[in-house]
Amino acid sequence: MKSHTYDAVIVGGGFFGCSLALFLRSTMSRVVVIEMGDDLLQRASYHNQARVHRGYHYPRSLMTALRSRLNYPRFVEDFADCVYDEFDQYYAVGRKLSKVSAGQYRNFMNRIGAPMREAPAEVRDLFESKLIEAVFAVTECAFDPVRLKQCLRARLEEAGVEVRLCTQARRVMPDAGGTLTLECESSDGEALEPVRGSWIFNCTYSQLNGLLENSGLAPIPIKQELTEMALVEMPAGLRNIGLTVMCGPFFSTMPFPPLGCHTLSHVRYTPHAHWRERPGARFDPYEYLAAHARKTHFPMMIQDARRYVPMLAECRQKGSLWEIKTLLPQSELDDGRPILFQRTAEHPNLICVMGGKIDNIYDLPHELKKTGIEVHDPKR
Ligand SMILES: Cc1cc2nc3c(=O)[nH]c(=O)nc-3n(C[C@H](O)[C@H](O)[C@H](O)COP(=O)(O)OP(=O)(O)OC[C@H]3O[C@@H](n4cnc5c(N)ncnc54)[C@H](O)[C@@H]3O)c2cc1C
Repeated sequence: MKSHTYDAVIVGGGFFGCSLALFLRSTMSRVVVIEMGDDLLQRASYHNQARVHRGYHYPRSLMTALRSRLNYPRFVEDFADCVYDEFDQYYAVGRKLSKVSAGQYRNFMNRIGAPMREAPAEVRDLFESKLIEAVFAVTECAFDPVRLKQCLRARLEEAGVEVRLCTQARRVMPDAGGTLTLECESSDGEALEPVRGSWIFNCTYSQLNGLLENSGLAPIPIKQELTEMALVEMPAGLRNIGLTVMCGPFFSTMPFPPLGCHTLSHVRYTPHAHWRERPGARFDPYEYLAAHARKTHFPMMIQDARRYVPMLAECRQKGSLWEIKTLLPQSELDDGRPILFQRTAEHPNLICVMGGKIDNIYDLPHELKKTGIEVHDPKR
């Protein structure tokens, strides 16, 4: 079978793969994105809470909080048409079970230079004061993943990045010329023309280890969670509000712009299952999710959340977003969300990339530079 040769082959057409392709195209001639789905940004880049993190969520990881502070304004500027900010955002601190006190949270926000103010009385009154110590008003927006997809699709086309949909990457192999060959197949399992690249980037998020395992390479230690976020219609009094209770077994609600409703996520009930991927004991997370019975945890989420915000009892479930969430082991210690950017020992030109949150794309140029790849910011 004949194969095409590219400077960079990116496996995975999520937000990370597409963003990386644009960075690489600024200095490379031939860049291709290989995506198994029939469109871009259909997996974790769609099924998430749509929060553009500005640092407030990470009082236990100063590094993640500071990186978010730097990345937030860049995201908001670069993706201005994809940002949704027609709501007020509040972070509350629980009195019991919280890993931070209100005083510690205030100090943390001062330390990272994050603007905040005490929430007005009518917002504080939404909360049960026996359970909530303080409520802070902040400015933090959401993103619309459908607009993000449209925007990236247009930018990839304009930049001349090739996109191959319905193409599943199966295996990476070294070839004689010092490049790497990627074996691919169609959605029906038919072998497709292989793709050759000087660099291959594995941006498959929860499928990172699938490609590595098929290629006979050592897996990356990751934790997988099968997650459910309820999609809810808020009562009028909460419609233009985002609420997050910090920092422990609590909940958050955020507008979900493409569907005109909110997501409700709960630290205890959003994960339905979790597991660590180990060598030889891996199963396909997409297949696992597809086979999952999807019995909603919404009743438990709302039963707990309404104790903190009684008005939430009036919200109505419209459905749920289900997805596999992939976490690095260190996230369990401090809830941080660093980017993973790792060359494989066996083939240094095969690089695994996984961003714990969307604004981490701005860490890519720095990581690329460490491997000797210079890129320009295509938007600057
Ligand atoms: C429940 C949940 C809530 C979250 N909330 C937020 C939030 O509020 N804010 C935030 O910033 N981040 C949040 N995140 C994290 C965020 O969603 C991810 O960091 C981001 O979407 C990862 O993008 P990605 O491109 O790496 O992954 P994905 O969007 O999953 O893209 C991976 C792509 O690879 C493709 N693929 C997989 N295997 C192959 C293969 N073999 N061949 C070809 N293609 C393949 C898939 O089809 C997919 O399109 C959340 C995540 C979850 C799950």
